[in-house]
Amino acid sequence: MEIWSKTKELLKERLTEHAYNTWFEPVQCIAENGSELVLEVPNQFFYEWIESHYRPTLDTIFRNDFHLDLSIKYTVSPETVVTPVYQDDPPSQPERKKLARPFLNKNYTFATFIEGSNNQFARAAAFNVAETPGTSAFNPLVIYGGVGLGKTHLLHAIGNHILATRPNLRVLSASSEKFTQDFIASIQKNKTIEFSRYYRKADVLLIDDIQFFQRKEQTQEQFFHTFNALYQAGKQIVLTADQYPGEMKGLQERLLSRFQSGLAVDIQPPDFETRVAILLEKAEMNGLELPYTMIEYMATHIKDNIRELESTIIRLLATSSLFNRDIDMDLVQKVVAERVGKQVQTDLSFEQLVRYVSEATHVTEREILGHRRTKHIAEARQLAMYLSRELTQNSLTAIGLYFGGRDHTTVMHACQKMEKQLQEDPRLRNLIHTAKRELTRLPLGMPGA
Ligand code: ADP
Ligand code: MG
Repeated sequence: MEIWSKTKELLKERLTEHAYNTWFEPVQCIAENGSELVLEVPNQFFYEWIESHYRPTLDTIFRNDFHLDLSIKYTVSPETVVTPVYQDDPPSQPERKKLARPFLNKNYTFATFIEGSNNQFARAAAFNVAETPGTSAFNPLVIYGGVGLGKTHLLHAIGNHILATRPNLRVLSASSEKFTQDFIASIQKNKTIEFSRYYRKADVLLIDDIQFFQRKEQTQEQFFHTFNALYQAGKQIVLTADQYPGEMKGLQERLLSRFQSGLAVDIQPPDFETRVAILLEKAEMNGLELPYTMIEYMATHIKDNIRELESTIIRLLATSSLFNRDIDMDLVQKVVAERVGKQVQTDLSFEQLVRYVSEATHVTEREILGHRRTKHIAEARQLAMYLSRELTQNSLTAIGLYFGGRDHTTVMHACQKMEKQLQEDPRLRNLIHTAKRELTRLPLGMPGA
């Protein structure tokens, strides 16, 4: 990998230290010949970023320093590394060795998983399984929930924990896509026996995103048999899915009933405090020290996907290193606005908002901003605080100050209360929906608003 290591040296000289450390330090070259480099990058975002921002620099280096016209291929590590396992694992070889490196992301551990009320139960169940694989009461354990909420993280955390505490156990992990691909490849190569042998060797089988089995009859059939064999032998099975298994369409009834014979736990979108905790953690992991107000701003506007929270931090880092500028509130707002688009309402003032709430609730503006706690007044105030948090870029502290000098925790409780009521009260939901629509249409000059 000589070209790449020389390229790295040159990049180190030509880029700022920050940019080099962020974008090139973690990149590995896994293959190279005179015309092509294959780079392993940590995630899709790196690939896009390097391509869009550093491709010219790289091409210049290749051309001027090596006199080569090199193309670059990218692969994302490590989850998507596809190796047709049973092929280079002929039964004659000692089996254990080959299984030593299951496809687990080593950063996905219980230690790096932040607990919140949204994922507490799932985490506890996962940890229990990781401590007592096979003998736990939770077999199979199914972790389900929306995109980017930590299902894969928990699944791999189980695998990593078992690897660390019980090195003798064979942990096998695959996405259901990989299981499917392996299965199809095994049919094409007349190796279905090796295929099933491979999967049935597991002491712990981790299968991610079982929704991809939907409508793949043959694969389901195969999985059903694998599942039964392992289950009957007392092996631990953990699955993830994007919805409650009982409600999945396109899966055979007998599979569904197997899935439901253990425990199904869900992960919900994170609440505000959890989002703050996650952002603090991710910022620290990336060597970023951000003041609380910035964290709070991000947690306020980016809500239902932890992957988004994470990539906001990365993008912040990237933008700052690329344009050589300090991270300040302006930059944070810009980056957040790029991610959530026009949902962030930057021009809306407290006055406009309170006037709107006053008209909608027939509580005067003075009462909303005052201290009386009569039920309908308090409710109008909570609504106004909630909308301020949703629609303006003010921090909780600033909102508290505006609403009669209240503490930021008061604002937070008001918002939590509204969120709870929203779940139960369709009229309130409707009111808020309309308010959001109308208020975000008010100001001029918002692109696309
Ligand atoms: P899913 O599989 O549910 O789509 P992932 O497990 O891939 O989601 O999570 C998306 C990203 O968010 C990952 O980088 C993961 O590490 C991170 N993440 C999710 N939940 C948490 C959590 N509770 N604490 C820390 N990081 C988390
Ligand atoms: Mg996942």
